[in-house]
Amino acid sequence: MDRVLVTGGAGYIGAHACKALARAGFLPVTFDDLSTGWREAVRFGPLVEAGLMDRAALDAAFAEHRPVAVMHFAALSLVGQSMRAPGQYWRVNVTGALNLIEAALAAGCRRFVFSSTCATYGDQDGVILDEDTPQYPINAYGGSKRAIEDMLRDFGASDGLESVIFRYFNVAGADPEAEIGEQHRPETHLIPLVLDAIAGRRGALTVFGRDYDTPDGTCIRDYVHVSDLARAHLAGLTRLLAGQGGGVYCLGTGRGFSVREVIAAAEKVTGAPVPLEEGPRRPGDAARLVSGSARARAELGWTPERSDMETMIADAAAWLNGPGYAH
Ligand code: UDP
Repeated sequence: MDRVLVTGGAGYIGAHACKALARAGFLPVTFDDLSTGWREAVRFGPLVEAGLMDRAALDAAFAEHRPVAVMHFAALSLVGQSMRAPGQYWRVNVTGALNLIEAALAAGCRRFVFSSTCATYGDQDGVILDEDTPQYPINAYGGSKRAIEDMLRDFGASDGLESVIFRYFNVAGADPEAEIGEQHRPETHLIPLVLDAIAGRRGALTVFGRDYDTPDGTCIRDYVHVSDLARAHLAGLTRLLAGQGGGVYCLGTGRGFSVREVIAAAEKVTGAPVPLEEGPRRPGDAARLVSGSARARAELGWTPERSDMETMIADAAAWLNGPGYAH
């Protein structure tokens, strides 16, 4: 059984990718220090409990498992936190990725699938963001991810590293079978916070800013279902294993939802009101991030299947109000 080393496999998106890999006949080997991930999420293959700063642990994992490819999810990924503690983002994300790439190449593993982000684009209001759009990040999270994209290109030229780079838009929803789902400690993401507010697990939801240059004044994001994203990763891996080379792909639906539209959809799905309060803008937030995904559709045959807003909210609610990780 071919093995894939999945950094961050205990995290939200990584765990869904592990499930998709296992379903497709691969053995996902999770490399995760459990600093933000969940031991209970590692259900589809073994866990190597270590961090990316630990080069010896990386070398040992490559030697033991001989993976055919790496999927690299492990990272600090919060826009707001990255504005308060940029050093952590540059150190952990960029140095961690460098260690991982060098360990992979030393072990002769040259296929790499990387989680990048629409946060690499910055604030380009009114533009549909696609692979040809220039990247001008406005927060340290986006900056650190763009640096890793550059690093992958450099190692491609010097060492033949082949990378599929996915620029995700906003990931949402949960495994439709509710085996795994989205849960962060602390939670900062809009949809789980909305569902927590409805269920009374926490107080009112604060809407960050209502004076953006958007139709209702709140930020617009392009939400994509985590299971659709996981299928894209499998398609990217398949492309690399078939010798078709790497590429950069944006993953979104092309339809933006404002914060208020997300709240309205959650009220429709749950039949309950969302307790709300207004707050200031969150530093680092772009007004509008909406994706063009024609390339992923054309080259990877990828189509989102569960990414309509109500399905994503219903799947997230079934998970959060159901099993969860730490109930
Ligand atoms: N947001 C909000 N209140 C919250 C959390 C998020 O208004 O308590 C907004 C946030 O400003 C952004 C959108 O919801 O415009 C999505 O934020 P999230 O943190 O889920 O994802 P991000 O866009 O940062 O990746």
